[in-house]
Amino acid sequence: MNIGIIGGGISGCAAAYELHKKGCKVEILEKGEQIGGRTISFNEHELFFNTGAAFITNFYHRTHKYITELNLQNSILEGKNAKVYLVGKEKTVPFDVADISTFIKFPYVNTRDKFSVVFKSLGLKMNRRNYDWVDPEHLGKDDYESVAQFGKRVFNERIYEYLLRQSIEPYWYFSAEEVSAAMVIALQVNAMNAKFYTFEEGMDTLSRKISSMVPTQLNCEVKSISIDNKKITVQTNREDKVYDKIVVATPASLAHKLVENLNCVTDYQKEFLSSQRYLKHIVIGYTVSSENLKNVSGEFHPIGKWDFGAVAVLAKGYKSKQLDKEVVVVYLTKDLSEKIINHSEEEIAKRGWTEAKKLCIDLPPGFLNAKVIRRELAMPISEVGRFKGAAKFLKQDSNPVVFVGDYLTIPCIEGCIFTAQKAAHSLVGK
Ligand SMILES: Cc1cc2nc3c(=O)[nH]c(=O)nc-3n(C[C@H](O)[C@H](O)[C@H](O)COP(=O)(O)OP(=O)(O)OC[C@H]3O[C@@H](n4cnc5c(N)ncnc54)[C@H](O)[C@@H]3O)c2cc1C
Repeated sequence: MNIGIIGGGISGCAAAYELHKKGCKVEILEKGEQIGGRTISFNEHELFFNTGAAFITNFYHRTHKYITELNLQNSILEGKNAKVYLVGKEKTVPFDVADISTFIKFPYVNTRDKFSVVFKSLGLKMNRRNYDWVDPEHLGKDDYESVAQFGKRVFNERIYEYLLRQSIEPYWYFSAEEVSAAMVIALQVNAMNAKFYTFEEGMDTLSRKISSMVPTQLNCEVKSISIDNKKITVQTNREDKVYDKIVVATPASLAHKLVENLNCVTDYQKEFLSSQRYLKHIVIGYTVSSENLKNVSGEFHPIGKWDFGAVAVLAKGYKSKQLDKEVVVVYLTKDLSEKIINHSEEEIAKRGWTEAKKLCIDLPPGFLNAKVIRRELAMPISEVGRFKGAAKFLKQDSNPVVFVGDYLTIPCIEGCIFTAQKAAHSLVGK
């Protein structure tokens, strides 16, 4: 069976890998110059950094299985040295989710709150045995209120504000007011003993490894798809391709444009694809003189009610090709990203640095160089009801066209691999 995969992000690559393992002939068509999509690393001149995804955790079980199968165990590093800046208390302290002392010392909430969190989190975990945290079928059961509604109903205002909101906004950027409680429950079920890992040579290591095993066309943008006599013709900017089946592995709005005229895709699926909202986002990689970065090391996030425009600063640990320089990566908030996304590169870099210095107060006054990464379709917003919708979407039969992507799950690498496995199964069975 000859299968075309449209899009070479982690979802498309994982689908290619699953189908390749099942003995299918697959080909990836990627419109960009690089494979990896939103996991791509930037590696030019003296700058090296992850432009999108930066970590996986120990509860990414499918991802770890890939790492073992693809012999990439030596390519991952455990992330250490996370810190948080305590807003209002104006100090930076170590922060390790797996370390009970971090929780015991946590300010802002009182001892009674902490007991309530431990007790209720254990309850949530016990009630969710055999729970798959990226399967929308499972997530759908908790998908009827926002994180804010859930936090205030089950816990209290303080616990919502200082614990639950903090587990979403600095990592997914979208507001806890609009996001489904299913996400925070999925994280709570897994949070105890959480460990973080990164790929030493960039988060795209996984996609690159997979794409080296299957034919891949870069700079190949799919313009349209038509089906005639059970053959699928894919028109690209280069040449027409013919396949028996295809996997659409682009963000939802782009997928919708490609399939809106296909009869095999159901009306519900088309409606779901066209209704997905994405947030815009900016990540900036800076080089800084090593001399000036002596007192700064680690990963910094805010805790408390922050009103500055950066939610994460990663300093050191990212290699610069020149030893006298270090790389600092700054992730802006959703609000600031949306406000300045069309400004000049220079303006964005300067503003990003000013905001980063509010979060990581020991950063030097200036930087040497900067690379700005802007994304219009950065993160699909997991609104209330979206997981239920995704579960319904995945149950509908659109063979010979199937869909993969983070808009069908929790937006993360593990979720993408989940959708790829589902797609491979629905195309060719076990
Ligand atoms: C700033 C940021 C930080 C993140 N941090 C993390 C993290 O730490 N951990 C984590 O697990 N996840 C993280 N994520 C989420 C994760 O990166 C995404 O969920 C995941 O990479 C999405 O992969 P995908 O393959 O579904 O989509 P994409 O990566 O967007 O891939 C889609 C691909 O399709 C291609 N394409 C589009 N249209 C066409 C066309 N017409 N023809 C051919 N090709 C086309 C695109 O060029 C792209 O390569 C982060 C995301 C962002 C933006």
